[in-house]
Amino acid sequence: MNIELQCCGLFIIFTITVMFLREKKLDLMNRKLFFRAICACVACLIFDILSIILINMSVLRGFNPAITQIVCKIYIMLLVMQGYFGYVYASTSMLPPDRLWAKIVKAVSHLIFASGELMMLILPIGFEAHGREVYSYGPSTSVAYVLSAIYILSTIITTIAFRKEMPGRRFVAMLLWQGIWLIAAAIQFMVPGLLLVGFASAFGMVILYIQLENPSEFIDGSTGLFTTNALSAYVHDRYRFGKRFSLFTAKIHFLTNYVDYNMEQAAVMRTARALIKLGPEPAFRIDDDTFCVVYEDKDRMLERAANIKMQKDSVTDLPAKGTYLLVPDSLLMSGPDEFFRLMHTYLESEQEIVFADEELVHRHRRQNRIKDLIDDALANDRVEVFYQPFYNLRENIFNVAEALVRIRRANGDLVPPADFIPVAEETGQIIPLGIRVFEKVCRFLSTGDAQERGLGQVEINISAAQFDYENPARFVFEYMEKYHIDPKWINLEITETASAQNRDVMLRNMGKIIDRGISFSLDDFGTGRSNIDYFIDMPVSLIKFDNSFTKGYFGNEKTKYVLTGMADIFHKMGMSVVAEGIETEDQVKAMDEMGVEYIQGYYYSKPLPENEFLSFLAEKNL
Ligand code: C2E
Ligand code: MG
Ligand code: MG
Repeated sequence: MNIELQCCGLFIIFTITVMFLREKKLDLMNRKLFFRAICACVACLIFDILSIILINMSVLRGFNPAITQIVCKIYIMLLVMQGYFGYVYASTSMLPPDRLWAKIVKAVSHLIFASGELMMLILPIGFEAHGREVYSYGPSTSVAYVLSAIYILSTIITTIAFRKEMPGRRFVAMLLWQGIWLIAAAIQFMVPGLLLVGFASAFGMVILYIQLENPSEFIDGSTGLFTTNALSAYVHDRYRFGKRFSLFTAKIHFLTNYVDYNMEQAAVMRTARALIKLGPEPAFRIDDDTFCVVYEDKDRMLERAANIKMQKDSVTDLPAKGTYLLVPDSLLMSGPDEFFRLMHTYLESEQEIVFADEELVHRHRRQNRIKDLIDDALANDRVEVFYQPFYNLRENIFNVAEALVRIRRANGDLVPPADFIPVAEETGQIIPLGIRVFEKVCRFLSTGDAQERGLGQVEINISAAQFDYENPARFVFEYMEKYHIDPKWINLEITETASAQNRDVMLRNMGKIIDRGISFSLDDFGTGRSNIDYFIDMPVSLIKFDNSFTKGYFGNEKTKYVLTGMADIFHKMGMSVVAEGIETEDQVKAMDEMGVEYIQGYYYSKPLPENEFLSFLAEKNL
């Protein structure tokens, strides 16, 4: 009899089924559909074998042909079902579930399947056996051939159409799977004695199982928890089908410099066991020291999170700190990209507990938009430097200016620094941004155009955060050499929008820059951030009274006394003073009386682009 290949196929598919059922499962649509396809394959092979046996029995020994016909029909109906389930498995992961056309395609394929099955049920079927050649024939069988071909071709076409949206491995596996079917069907069609289709379908399932549904990629070998790959699959699956979930994430930071590997592993294992013990919900190890659990709803997550947090101290005796991220509702985020981006941002943050509610998600979204804006501006040379002239009251000339950064959007709009500097400081983008501004100013000064028009110095803002990430001395020296910049042309303003974490390092690095002849000024004096301590040992030669401080002079007697007194102190310390935010003539006069050396403000000029700034200097100074 011609059933050896079928028996082999059945053995293979049984093995896969057992392996599939034994593995730890994650509730994923793909997996459900794959399992459905496996079941159809098993049923199909069983009826394939049964039909061969019964055909032989009917032809050779006169077994009841009606029963054989029924079995043959069930077999071909299952064969079509298998093709259909294979198509559904493949297309569900490809077709966009929320698009109307995809819904129509789905409905049509359902309809074709249902009507095909009905036709196979109603239409007559015959069977034949000549030696090893055993087959069924007739209209019912023809429908089965046509439908199988439709499903195989649909799967291949869909796979090719969506190849850009899937990893290369998936693309190859899908084509291989369907290709094997197609070749087997063609051979069987030409050589009816070679019943290859059943075996080929089982073999195709093996390829899918190994290449796409391989559980080993989903399970972390050392802890038995699900892996990052599994979390990625889970999150993509949930967003794809619009299903809500809640998530709890815990990251353990060891606070000692030296952590014994075994102790760390022990803590990891204890955490994993605690998470597994805590409940049926899937737990993941997404990094060496980061774990998360997903829940169907927020209340369950909150109840469990309290439990997990309490257990922190029981997992390690080492000094450790936990960072916890609670996401009550995944649908607050637009999709997997935003979800993982948020996770990454807040797990790296300093906060102990982060609750990703609507407000936080919006803040994060805005921050990311700005982050992208900065990246885009850096990549496409849309970082611009404007110059605001200072009036020198002693020499009656505009001989100093401040360089102020702006970002030009693709549509031409300008974005003011207040909108992006704080984000740049937080993300570290302040480093490339600061370097870009510095280079642009150096390039501008290297032409000598501004100096010809009376400019003696440009003040460049350096945020204290820049000293946290790197040593600005490096790029300052590099560009000064490259553009042959005289150090007296440049003054660096330390802005205090963020304060340096390591003040000693900052002072040391400032010292290196000062040694090369570049001076510093202290920006935003009077905003409350610069206390006495801060400026006493700050090596600055210029103090800038902040807008709000100078405004206070005119509205508040006390501020007036403080400001006058402070100006006096700074002068005695050998420093000069700049008054920022001066908008009227009266204000200029008052500052002049107070002994301020420089006036920066809209009264004289707003920050100007390079060419307008040069025209301004030419008009006022020459
Ligand atoms: P800042 O360094 O204190 O700069 C002075 C700000 O006051 C500028 O705002 C300027 O346009 C504004 N201003 C000047 N005169 C007047 C006035 O009369 N009235 C009013 N209402 N405002 C006046 P801008 O350009 O928006 O810059 C804001 C801040 O962004 C700067 O404050 C500085 O802290 C930061 N910044 C600007 N460029 C850079 C940069 O290249 N690097 C860094 N780290 N920070 C920068
Ligand atoms: Mg400034
Ligand atoms: Mg300022």
